[in-house]
Amino acid sequence: MALIVQKYGGTSVGSPERIKNVALRVAKWKKLGHQLVIVVSAMSGETNRLVALSKEVQANPDPRELDVVLSTGEQVTIGLLAMALKDIGVEAKSYTGGQVKVLTDSAFTKARILDIDEAAMRADLEAGAVVVVAGFQGVDEAGNITTLGRGGSDTTGVALAAALKADECQIYTDVDGVYTTDPRIVPEARRLDTITFEEMLEMASLGSKVLQIRSVEFAGKYKVKLRVLSSLGDPREEEGPGTLITLEEPNSMEQPIISGIAFSRDEAKLTVLGVPDKPGIAYQILGPIAEANVDVDMIIQNVGSDGSTDFSFTVGRGDYAKALAILEKVKDSIKARGITADNKICKVSAVGVGMRSHPGIASQMFRSLAEEGINIQMISTSEIKISVVVDEKYLELAVRVLHKAFGLD
Ligand code: ADP
Ligand code: ASP
Ligand code: MG
Repeated sequence: MALIVQKYGGTSVGSPERIKNVALRVAKWKKLGHQLVIVVSAMSGETNRLVALSKEVQANPDPRELDVVLSTGEQVTIGLLAMALKDIGVEAKSYTGGQVKVLTDSAFTKARILDIDEAAMRADLEAGAVVVVAGFQGVDEAGNITTLGRGGSDTTGVALAAALKADECQIYTDVDGVYTTDPRIVPEARRLDTITFEEMLEMASLGSKVLQIRSVEFAGKYKVKLRVLSSLGDPREEEGPGTLITLEEPNSMEQPIISGIAFSRDEAKLTVLGVPDKPGIAYQILGPIAEANVDVDMIIQNVGSDGSTDFSFTVGRGDYAKALAILEKVKDSIKARGITADNKICKVSAVGVGMRSHPGIASQMFRSLAEEGINIQMISTSEIKISVVVDEKYLELAVRVLHKAFGLD
C-alpha cells in the first residue's frame, strides 16, 4: 500500500463529466489498496473569470479581497469531486486550505506555504476515506484566506506530498507528460520519460507552465517523487508512464544535449540611451525598479566610443508600464539622452544538462536563428540554458527551428 497525492488541473475537472471521470480514476487507484489525497484546481477558465469579475468591481482589486474571491473556484471543485466519489461508493471528504490547515505567510495573491497540519488528513486516510483538498489556497496566521499565485495547485500537491511523506506526487493534466517543448506550438514535440529537477526548474522558470516553478523547487528540496500524467484518457484503460522528474543526471552518452525548448511571451524590454558611463549608473537605474518590486531578468550594457552607455533590461510584461514610468522619472537626474521601450518581445530558451560537457551549443543556436533571418536582441546564459530575446512575431518560428536544430523533432 502506498500513500499517493494526485493533483488534477483545471481542464481535468473542467466539466461535470470530467469530474466524474476523475472520480473513476481515483476509485481505480483506491481499489489497488492505496491511500489517496486528491488536490484539485478550479474548473478551467474559472480563475480567469473571477479575476475579470473582481476587476469590474475594483480596477485594481484589493489583494486580500481578491484572494477571498479567487479561492471560491477551488472550493466548488472539492465539493463536486467529493460528491462524485460518494456517488460511486468511495468514501471521501473535502477540505479547503483553511480547513486542512495550509498555513501561509500573508503575501496575498502570492503567498508561500509555511506549514501543513496533517492530523485531520491522516485520520481520514486511516479510516479509509479519500481526502480531497482545494489547491492554490491557504490561510495566514490571522486566519485570512490567501492564494499561492497562478498555477499554484501544483505547489499545494507537492507540499502535501512532502508533509505527508507520500510515496509519489502525481500531477494529472491535459498532456501525458513533460514534452521537449509545448506541444501546442510544435506538434512534433516528444514526451520525455524523465527530466532532471534542475532542467525542469529552468524550463518552468523560462515559461513552460506545465508545472508551477515553486512546485518543482519544493519537490527538489523535500525529495518528493514527482510525475506528470494525463487525466484525459479512459480511466478503465491502462495509464501511460508520464514523465518522472528525477534527481539523477542521465549518464548515457546517447542522452540528448538539449532536453527542451522553453519560451515566454510575457516579456518587455526597456533601454536607457546615452547615459554618461561612470560608477553607480546601473544602481541609479535599477535601484528604483527594485524598490517598486519589479523583477528584472536580462541586462545588457554597451559602452560607446564617446564614453556614454546604453543600458537595456527586460521585465515581465505586467510590469512594463510601471518600469517605464520609473525610467521617465529618473531620466533627467542620470542625464540620459532618451528611453526606448518595447513590449512586443519574447524569450526563447534551450535547456539541457548536457550543455555542461558540450561546447558550441550557443553558436549552433545563433546560426539556426540567423538562417531563418531572426534577429537576436539580447542573450543570457547559465550552465544549463541559453536564452535569447527576439521579436514576438518570430516566437513560433524560433521555437520550431530550435526544436528541429537540436534534434528534438
Ligand atoms: P493544468 O490546468 O492541468 O494545471 P496547465 O495548462 O497549467 O494545466 O499545464 C498544461 C499545459 O502546459 C499543456 O496543455 C501544454 O500546452 C503546456 N506546456 C507548456 N510547455 C510544456 C511542455 N514542455 N510539456 C508539456 N506541456 C507543456
Ligand atoms: N486555479 C488556479 C489558476 O488558475 C490555480 C491552478 O489552477 O493551479 O491559476
Ligand atoms: Mg497548471
